[in-house]
Amino acid sequence: MTAKLIDGKHIAQVIRDKWKLRVDELIKKDIRPGLGVIIVGNDPASLVYVGNKTKACESVGINSKQYDLPVTITEEDLLAKIDELNNDPSINGILVQLPLPKHIDVNNVLAKISVEKDVDGFHLYNMGALVTGKMIFPPCTPYGIKCLLDYTNIDVEGKNAVVIGSSNIVGKPMALMLLSMNATVSICNIYTYYLTQYTSLADILIVATGVPGLIKKEMVKPGAVVIDVGINRLPDGRLVGDVDFEGVKEVASYITPVPGGVGPMTITMLLVNTIMAAERSNKLAKPYIDFDRA
Ligand code: NAD
Repeated sequence: MTAKLIDGKHIAQVIRDKWKLRVDELIKKDIRPGLGVIIVGNDPASLVYVGNKTKACESVGINSKQYDLPVTITEEDLLAKIDELNNDPSINGILVQLPLPKHIDVNNVLAKISVEKDVDGFHLYNMGALVTGKMIFPPCTPYGIKCLLDYTNIDVEGKNAVVIGSSNIVGKPMALMLLSMNATVSICNIYTYYLTQYTSLADILIVATGVPGLIKKEMVKPGAVVIDVGINRLPDGRLVGDVDFEGVKEVASYITPVPGGVGPMTITMLLVNTIMAAERSNKLAKPYIDFDRA
């Protein structure tokens, strides 16, 4: 078998086109969605990510404002800046680019962002909503993966879904979303003995570890859907995922490429969450999205 490719770049564009129409409708009502992006210091990778987010915002008509703060800023001053944006009616979504300098407690920062503007979905309240299946702002990467599965008509109900990686931004929220969608979910991490015992049972295998080529062909159940979240730069400059793409595509039914799979969806879902925030602040959308199929 040769797996069908899940083309994240194409699917992301289809979603952006659809949501741009919703921005057009808002603009007709004199509402322009606004995203405030705070960046502390000048880490080159963070600057690239923020630049990509700004460009993506412009492409759908979101007004993106960037706030460059010095690496020496105190936590108190950063929290004050967030408060200012919490109270700014032109800003519907707030994003603080991570990582932050070591002297700042990231938990205090994420907790300061108003729940109604937390478009990254990292606030504890939003994390709690994930448990109930009634998402306020689903975190962008797992939300993007859910949309890839939906777009490809892959129903997860009753399937064995295995998530490799248990970070707060990818693995854990992904597992909770799949659970809400009635999958039977296992979560593995670096401490898991015999990873293959889990991967070989997976109908849906989602890999987010940051270990290049961790998942090999012989670890994958024939016909499985394989979603590769990893983004790894090899010493020779190549960008690869956590899945040995060439081998695994011979046994999987569907597979995402790296680049061009999950990556484009992450930024797209940030746009979706920001537009949703603008609609909600004008009472034009429900306060939550129901993933719960129970
Ligand atoms: P993280 O470092 O916070 O977490 C990694 C997780 O993988 C941990 O739970 C760890 O226990 C597990 N892990 C590590 N080695 C393992 C192994 N050998 N076997 C089993 N589990 C193992 O990373 P993260 O932020 O969740 O990101 C994971 C990967 O996804 C990275 O490559 C990152 O660049 C990428 N990523 C991509 C996107 C995207 O938009 N495509 C978004 C976020 C993260």
